[in-house]
Amino acid sequence: MINLDELYRQVIMDNYKNPKNKGLIKDTGYINIHLNNPSCGDDMNVSVKVENGIVTDIRHDGTGCSICCSSASVASVVLREKTIEEVKRLINEFFELVKGEDITNEELDEALAYKSVSKFPARIKCATLGWKAIEQALEESE
Ligand code: ZN
Repeated sequence: MINLDELYRQVIMDNYKNPKNKGLIKDTGYINIHLNNPSCGDDMNVSVKVENGIVTDIRHDGTGCSICCSSASVASVVLREKTIEEVKRLINEFFELVKGEDITNEELDEALAYKSVSKFPARIKCATLGWKAIEQALEESE
């Protein structure tokens, strides 16, 4: 039997140590958003590219705790190559997940690892910071 908590912890540590899509792109066509979470000291920037209603690239760069930095990496993979509507729906499902709702959508893939964050309410802001920045970028793209 695979211990699910152990597997989830592994996802978080892997994405923290080896983040995917790290490094911002300051180019026309990219929307850059900066958000921070004073309660933990997390500081997150994202660059999001939207083309013809599709989110084609998500980049992130920031400093903070492992939950915050790793979840931005996961978001940059999970939310890529989807329509704005799909991405908004997945972001909302992720917010419900970390609040403890029973979300099992496989499209969330590695993001499902953050389910256990609901047991630590102070860390919910950490887990959602990058996702909130991406959501804000989408709002500005419209
Ligand atoms: Zn944090």
